[in-house]
Amino acid sequence: MSAFMICYKIIPHYPEAHIYRVTLDITSPDENGQIFSMPTWIPGSYMVRDFAKNVVSISATSKDKPILITQIDKQTWKIAGSTGPVRVIYDLYAWDLSVRTAYLDQFRGYFNGPSVFLQVHGAESEPCFLEVCLPEGERYEHWSVATSLRKDGARQRCYCADGYFELIDHPVEIGLFESAKFQVASIPHEIVISGRHNADLPRLCSDLEQICDAQRKIFGQLPLDRYLFLVAAVGDGYGGLEHKYSTSLLCNRADLPKAKQQKISDGYRRFLGLCSHEYFHLWNVKRICPAAFVDVPLDSEVYTRLLWVFEGITSYYDELILVRAGLITAESYLELLAQTITRVARVQGRFKQTLEESSFNAWTKFYKQDENAPNAIVSYYSKGALVALSLDLKIRHESADKYSLDDVMRAFWNKYGVTKIGVPEDGFERLAVEVTGLNLHSFFQSYVRGTEDPPLHEQLARQGVNLELRQMKDQSDLGGFATSSCQHESLLTLGVKFLTGVDEAKIQQVFDGGAAQQAGISAGDELVAVDGIKCTAKNIDALVAVGSTEVSLNIHLFRRDELLLIQVQPKAAPADTCNLSYTTDSTSEMISNRCRWLQIDE
Ligand code: ZN
Repeated sequence: MSAFMICYKIIPHYPEAHIYRVTLDITSPDENGQIFSMPTWIPGSYMVRDFAKNVVSISATSKDKPILITQIDKQTWKIAGSTGPVRVIYDLYAWDLSVRTAYLDQFRGYFNGPSVFLQVHGAESEPCFLEVCLPEGERYEHWSVATSLRKDGARQRCYCADGYFELIDHPVEIGLFESAKFQVASIPHEIVISGRHNADLPRLCSDLEQICDAQRKIFGQLPLDRYLFLVAAVGDGYGGLEHKYSTSLLCNRADLPKAKQQKISDGYRRFLGLCSHEYFHLWNVKRICPAAFVDVPLDSEVYTRLLWVFEGITSYYDELILVRAGLITAESYLELLAQTITRVARVQGRFKQTLEESSFNAWTKFYKQDENAPNAIVSYYSKGALVALSLDLKIRHESADKYSLDDVMRAFWNKYGVTKIGVPEDGFERLAVEVTGLNLHSFFQSYVRGTEDPPLHEQLARQGVNLELRQMKDQSDLGGFATSSCQHESLLTLGVKFLTGVDEAKIQQVFDGGAAQQAGISAGDELVAVDGIKCTAKNIDALVAVGSTEVSLNIHLFRRDELLLIQVQPKAAPADTCNLSYTTDSTSEMISNRCRWLQIDE
């Protein structure tokens, strides 16, 4: 047995007040004073969250006698030098319904390690043990625990990990939940759903199995002995976080498939896309990871220019896999793709920030978006997905279908995942060249280190798919798949986004180059009249759209509590909404290209 032993016990101490109590026993602490700290961030979500702020009280004892514990900074504590075992006891407030932190009430408990477990400095590689307790009382008798943590022998709700970083990579659900099991290449998988829902579990298992298996085929290997989809079904929520052996997902209960529901609804398609995304991460970011993330320090930010590789390529494959697995049609996939193209086309920030810069500044820009974000940044998810698509189509075309992005990803896995070597900052580009033998320098220079749009128009045309950009019809228009080319209207617009869910025409964002920006209309302004006619969120677009580019509009608005009159010259709405359709003159070669890319049987 290791001389050093670290045992955590987490108790849902006061569910009504959302308080967990954690006791941490250390057999042989640092004789010069043991240091502990709470991580500031959770891997996979690149934002400083300062989990220590939820510690509401902390104390320490040695042989049942209180000892001094001193706080050193916002997240670090030190106890006086001690030769014997010590126990640290702390209470944590847990009331965050997201996949990143911790939650507790009288109906359910959920937590992520980084937000609840103190890191014992100098002992990160020592084995640790965890006991998850149930709250006291009759009403909690039937609660159970779901996690991908390794069980510690036969002891109920007891787990073990080879070190701190393994311990904190397994979210834990406590309460009453439904679960179902399935296998992928003989490896046990489980889905656990908490929250009220009517999901058709056998259907879910069968669909997930196909997604997982299609991904396994890309990488050629499923490097695990178990996997858990941990789902919280709520009224309105969406999110996911990847882990090595599991994923935590938050979804709308309405998105889950009901019994006898044949069709894949838009919501269910979105849910399957989310599952697919997080599962793909078990290779791409959890096991193949940037060198900067190896032995990842959790006390401050880490920087890489490669997030687009880990999030963008994953976002490309998450939807592609749905069509490859036969769960959605090619047209349904192209609808999703058109929506991604639209999202990117609507942000002028894509001409100011490169994918590498977007990755590098994730902490302060992507994760801290304000009203100016569309004018200043580009998403390494959505533009990353389009660059991944473009790279895939380029490789397929220029290698005469000898290679595809799949080959690069498999080599990526073999070179950096199997070997557990961190990916150097130029590792992905070098490998893509090595695998395909193509000259990709100008591609990366233009679309990854530069701000150009990838040439999807020409590339999709070779697959018999027509890419068309047109004006947005209304705020709910996200673009999509059309059976034929669409009508062109000439609508006018202010170049703003209105706040949704309110009756007032309140401005959320003002876009670069638009009429509103030129006239000085700003985020937060509440428009009340257009040419003397009262306007609301409902009628504002119509009031502006029918104007003329020759005549200014008199717009009354409130900025803070002052009524202002501003003259605005509306402009033609930009062609920033994507429609994809099959070209009417698709040749058989184009169709077979498309079928190979989407891997549909011809
Ligand atoms: Zn992701």
